[in-house]
Amino acid sequence: MTDHVNSYYAATAHRKDARPPLRGGIEADICVIGGGFTGVNAALELAERGRRPVLLEAVKIGFGASGRNGGQIVNGYSRDLDVIAKRYG
Ligand SMILES: Cc1cc2nc3c(=O)[nH]c(=O)nc-3n(C[C@H](O)[C@H](O)[C@H](O)COP(=O)(O)OP(=O)(O)OC[C@H]3O[C@@H](n4cnc5c(N)ncnc54)[C@H](O)[C@@H]3O)c2cc1C
Repeated sequence: MTDHVNSYYAATAHRKDARPPLRGGIEADICVIGGGFTGVNAALELAERGRRPVLLEAVKIGFGASGRNGGQIVNGYSRDLDVIAKRYG
């Protein structure tokens, strides 16, 4: 299986360009494994701090839980929507 599951993420993702497999060697400061929220954010934060990360994803960006979730901000089960809206917009 190499396609995203039928999800909101798959339907609305902006970048659909294929990223070819890594062939040969590559130099980087840090290797991040996995292109979900965790890996993509880690790579972005590293790049913004002047490091040269390489992100390796086995299938495609958002292929795992990050491309399948419900998109809900669960900010503690006792929070009402107005509290969440005030905090996150
Ligand atoms: C059905 C569902 C609904 C959810 N709903 C919500 C929600 O409403 N709100 C919420 O906050 N959270 C929700 N979650 C949880 C949330 O989606 C996850 O906690 C989050 O996406 C995890 O992100 P991640 O980057 O850690 O993992 P993932 O998104 O799973 O990313 C891991 C990536 O690593 C790749 N990978 C694995 N092994 C290798 C390897 N050896 N080499 C290279 N790449 C590899 C995988 O292909 C995958 O792309 C939900 C999860 C699911 C499954």
